[in-house]
Amino acid sequence: MLTLGIFVKWVNMLAVVYDANKNYLTELDSAIGDADHGINLARGFGAVKEAVAKAPPADIPALFKTVSMTLIKTVGGASGPLYGTLFMKSGPLLKESPVTPAALAAAFEAGVAGIKAMGKSTTGEKTMLDAWVPALEVMKAEAAAGSNANLALIKAASAAKEGMEKTIPMLATKGRASYLGERSVGHQDPGATSTMLMLKTLAEAAG
Ligand code: ADP
Ligand code: MG
Repeated sequence: MLTLGIFVKWVNMLAVVYDANKNYLTELDSAIGDADHGINLARGFGAVKEAVAKAPPADIPALFKTVSMTLIKTVGGASGPLYGTLFMKSGPLLKESPVTPAALAAAFEAGVAGIKAMGKSTTGEKTMLDAWVPALEVMKAEAAAGSNANLALIKAASAAKEGMEKTIPMLATKGRASYLGERSVGHQDPGATSTMLMLKTLAEAAG
């Protein structure tokens, strides 16, 4: 059941996961960006873990607000405000606990709309959206089919992974990678990779 405790566990796990994948994400970003994505997220979620320990949130919207503010404050680079917006826009829709798969899909849909608006971006541009959008579609379909949260999250994480892999042949048209033009082709997008890790870790926290 998706309660506050699961979401707290999730963000604490993300501090560990992004620290463990710091070099991997930074290597991906060194190929088509400025080699800071892993460092950015490890720093950001490390700060999130500290903020949550210092002032334990009373409910899921409060947790998401802390995550959002902390990421915006501590993550340099495009991904801080973009992930910050995701948590900012989805948190208010998670007032009712336990969160149902349908409610989670609706919340993430609002969050992803926030990323699109802030990034002036859409799918097919070699960004985190190429992992988020297919994951969201699967989450909505699983919710409609009556799947439980665990199954919906496992399938969504697997869709995010497929979406991440599909960024390899894409030409980047947004963010730093777009400066490379054709040379961006043949590399996996760092943001799509960190989104895959975010959703995989949520499935693990829930399972
Ligand atoms: P920066 O590019 O400023 O160094 P990061 O390295 O932390 O920031 O994050 C890069 C990731 O951010 C990219 O791999 C991409 O997934 C994502 N990104 C960049 N610009 C956009 C955008 N306009 N819309 C959606 N995602 C974006
Ligand atoms: Mg970067």
